[in-house]
Amino acid sequence: MEITFLGTGTSQGIPIIGSKHPVCLSQNPKDKRLRVSLLLEWDTYTFVIDCGPDFRQQMLNQNVQQLDGILYTHEHNDHIIGLDDVRPFYFRQGDINLFASQRVIKALKKRFDYVFESHNKYPGAPSVNLNEIVNEPFEVGGRQVTPIEVMHNTLPIFGFRVDNMAYITDAKTIDATEKLKLKNLDVLILNALRREPHPSHLNLEEALALIEELKPKKAYLTHISHLLGFHDEVERELPENVHLAYDNLKLTL
Ligand SMILES: [Zn+2]
Repeated sequence: MEITFLGTGTSQGIPIIGSKHPVCLSQNPKDKRLRVSLLLEWDTYTFVIDCGPDFRQQMLNQNVQQLDGILYTHEHNDHIIGLDDVRPFYFRQGDINLFASQRVIKALKKRFDYVFESHNKYPGAPSVNLNEIVNEPFEVGGRQVTPIEVMHNTLPIFGFRVDNMAYITDAKTIDATEKLKLKNLDVLILNALRREPHPSHLNLEEALALIEELKPKKAYLTHISHLLGFHDEVERELPENVHLAYDNLKLTL
């Protein structure tokens, strides 16, 4: 399996429009972060986790030719609003498979009512095939995906484990029972927003403590705010098995 970080930034991305913050002004490509999303590829399959406002640019950056489905963590804008841009895939392939909880499906139907229109649907609108997921393993492209329920402040949302890789974004806390699904990982991808505490996201200290507890072989931090600091400086202070993810980073598992 190959994974690519399509975006590693928090909801406004980095740089923030109009910001004079030094991290937003940085010329280091690793300090430029699109909104979070992950590309998963194995055999002939290509999936993405989340489909935010930068989806189109991310598909162009990676020259993605085919999309077998979108797995949704939750319904916040920075994770869903790119759906209309599945059109090029839809025109070539037909209905696009979406995998989401009942609550996320409800939000998608509200935000993208025209996609779900049953009569007089605009011919240019994309069509999707809804696959409702619950907190139980499901299969995509011949592989098992295990959802991990994590808390985003008071909102339960999903992370996903595929083989020995787990992707968790927008978590603040994880229940002891859900943590059991995160044993023996080769790679844990986890959100770390900034240094200051935040009500709905792990900060750097909390993310590092959780990594220490779960003991994956390697961990990569994502969903990063400009307030965390310059990529290269933060990277230097991390433990040996922990790295800051950056956009377009690829890992082979
Ligand atoms: Zn988010």
